[in-house]
Parts: sequence; structure tokens; C-alpha cells
Amino acid sequence: MKEEKVYMMIKCKECGTEVSSRANSCVKCGYVINRVSTSPKKSPGVAAVLNFLWSGVGNIYIGQIGGGLIASIVYLALNIAVFVSAGNDIKEAQQQQQRQAMNQLARGNYSKAFEQSLNSNPDLSLSAPTVLLGIGTFLFWGVMLFTVYNSAKKMNEENE
Ligand SMILES: [Zn+2]
Repeated sequence: MKEEKVYMMIKCKECGTEVSSRANSCVKCGYVINRVSTSPKKSPGVAAVLNFLWSGVGNIYIGQIGGGLIASIVYLALNIAVFVSAGNDIKEAQQQQQRQAMNQLARGNYSKAFEQSLNSNPDLSLSAPTVLLGIGTFLFWGVMLFTVYNSAKKMNEENE
């Protein structure tokens, strides 16, 4: 048995002509009927919030799959780089503290050496790579947030 699909007849919003619900546009006036179902609207706000949480996720949401995935991976790599670089800074500060304690010990200042080794807050100064990576990550995040919002807005305007 052959399967028969049933199509409804709908009225064109522009001229009132009866058109098949299957048609993309009105046969009489050309009014586009099915455009909403072919490209659902994506909210610029949702896209921005998703990119606020993690760069690239908002791009995937609005259909920029490839670009969104690349942006997500780049953002992850930048975050790892900042983490590793800051970790090195902390290690450096701890080594500096140990050197100072050893110096005090060598000079015979035992109480100062003891104090120095107990200091749980060594002077931590962020290195230039850490600062630059941090700024770079923040800029990347900000630009992605700004552009995904504008892309979503533009896509909606083109669908109007
Ligand atoms: Zn029409």
C-alpha cells in the first residue's frame, strides 16, 4: 500500500489565497510561508550568555559549529596556559623563599631562617608571560562574546 501524505490548505497571510502547507511561498503573491520553520530564530542574549560561560558555546548554539568548536579549544588552551604559567610563578616564589631561608641559615640567623621557612605567603609576583596570557585570554573571551551577540542579531535581522 502506498503511503499518502496529507497536506493542509492554509490561507496566505498577504493575499488570502489558499496555498498548500507544503509550499514555500504563495503561488499568487510570492509571500514566503515556510521560512520560520527552515531557520528557527536564535536569541542573541542566549548566545551571549553561553559565550560568557565558555567561549565558542554560543557560536555552536547559533549554528557556527566549526568556528565554535575551534574557539572552545583555543579558549581551553589559553586557560591551561594561564594556569601553568601562574603555577610556575608560585613555584618560583616558593623557591625564592627557600633561598632566603638558606641565606639566613648560612649567616647564622637561625630564628630568621625558621621564620622565613614558615612564611606561608611568599611574595608572589606574576611574571610577564602570565600577565600577557591573562590579558590575551580575557580579550579573546570579550571579542567572542561581542561578536556572537552581533552575529545572532544579524542572522535574525536577515530572517525578518
Ligand atoms: Zn499570497
